[in-house]
This record gives sequence, C-alpha cells and structure tokens, in this order.
Amino acid sequence: MVMRFFLCCLLLLGVVEARAAEVRVVATTGMIADLVRRVGGERVEVVQLMGAGVDPHLYKATTRDAAALLRADVIFYSGLKLEGRMTEVLAKLGGAGRAVYAVTEAMDREQLLAPAAFEGHYDPHVWFDVSLWAQTVPVMVRGLSAVDAAGAEQYARRGAELQLELEALHAWVQAEVSQIPPKNRVLITSHDAFNYFGRAYGLRVVGLQGVSTVSEAALGDVASLVDFIRAQGVRAIFVESTVNPEAMRRVAKDAGVRIGGELFSDAMGAPGEMRFGWDTGTYEGMVRANVETVVEALK
Ligand SMILES: [Zn+2]
Repeated sequence: MVMRFFLCCLLLLGVVEARAAEVRVVATTGMIADLVRRVGGERVEVVQLMGAGVDPHLYKATTRDAAALLRADVIFYSGLKLEGRMTEVLAKLGGAGRAVYAVTEAMDREQLLAPAAFEGHYDPHVWFDVSLWAQTVPVMVRGLSAVDAAGAEQYARRGAELQLELEALHAWVQAEVSQIPPKNRVLITSHDAFNYFGRAYGLRVVGLQGVSTVSEAALGDVASLVDFIRAQGVRAIFVESTVNPEAMRRVAKDAGVRIGGELFSDAMGAPGEMRFGWDTGTYEGMVRANVETVVEALK
C-alpha cells in the first residue's frame, strides 16, 4: 500500500515535471514581470526580483537573486539606469546561452525625457506613459522567441493582444484625466517618477526629490515646494509607495494642503492588493489605481 502510494506520487511528479515551463525568465521590476507573464503564458516561469514597496534605484541583488539570474534563460531589466547599482551586473550576464534585454532598448530616444538635473541620463520612469511602455512588448516577444523558437508564434500572438489592451488602457487614462479641471492639473509627489505620465496625459508634475531617490530632499526644496503649493492653490499632494512619506507629510502640514493618497511609483502593489477594485499587483491595475487616486483628489 505504502509502496503504491509512493509510485503514485512519483507518477504525479512526473506529470508536473513534464508540464513545467520551457523558459526560465528573470525580470527586475513588477512592471516588466507582469507583461512577460502575459506574453509568455504557460511556456514561461518568471522570477521577479523586486516586489511591492521595493525601490529599484537603491536595490542590491541578494544571494538568492544571483542564483535565479544564473539559472535564467532570459533576463529582462528596465534599463535607462533605473536599476542603479545592478545595471552593470545585469548587462554582463549575457552570453553562455543566456540572453539579456533592457526592455527600453528599442524606444526611440527622441521620445525619452532627459531632465537637466539627471546629468545627461534619460528619465527611466517610462512605464507611466502607457503607450511608451507598450513598446517594451516586442522586445519581450523577441527575447522569448530567441530562446524558445517553438513558442515564437504564440508569443507574437499574445504580444499583439497585449499591445491592443495597452492601447485601450492609454485611452482610458486620457479620458479619466480629462475629468480634472485644467487649472487643477498639477501633480505633486515625493520624487520625479511621473514626468512621462504628466507629458502623456497633460498634468504639470513637481517632485520633491530628483529623478532618482538616491539624494534625499533638502530643506530648501521643502520650503520652495510649500511656496509653490500656496501660490498655485494646489488641492492635494501625493505620497509614493516606494518612498518614505515623512518629507511629504511635512510639506502638506506646512502648506496646509491634504495628502490626496498614495501612488505606486517605482513598484507595483502586492498581488491581490486591491484599490478602487483593481489588483495593484498587475501593471494595468497599478495604472488604474493611480489614475483613480489622482482624479479623485484633484477633480
Ligand atoms: Zn524612481
């Protein structure tokens, strides 16, 4: 009887083994991991290095991450120096049967923002312009197809479907933001993560910290932001899920303005973390939750 039970277990394991995914993928951020899962379906197994609340600018790879990276067939990272300390390591992992892609690599540089404060680098927060982030899908399709030719057709089909969904999401964000009276379209947040969002959907964006979170906000920045909020009659300001909210709370108190809510900036929510009925553990859900938070507070 016991023997039969073991045999049964072995058979079951065999079945599970046979159905295991073909391609081992590592993605740095959730915004990438979610899209790769959508493109890859059952053929891929995606390990996501940075979870909810994790700041990619400051992130350092753990021993566990290193093991996952070395096991991977394909690695997708954001690029444009988003993964500050990891960028060099990631770029060097290619070769020896492993493909490495910065998902932003195919983006037309003319479409990227290069703020003066970022000293010649591009602003890496491209995922908040949904139409721009949709350009990462073909890179994912190409990357998966390169290591799994048998799945190429499926990746192309699923990628095309996803791009259509993202186009619809882009149009939805435009329609939502248009509900905010033009004079209220000012988005004040902890750090400069929303410049692409502002450009794509017509909001003026002011961040307390610079493009990266590496430098902390100086006292002078707080004072000038308070002046700006008072002068403009700003209705609400926002804290971010990956940045300590203390400085923004001080700004809110000094300026006599309310905190309009928490925005997901450089990381999505945890899987199943619902806000306004959206699962913020998905790219689409994160975008929708952010937009609803902003529109609710500013309209
Ligand atoms: Zn950032």
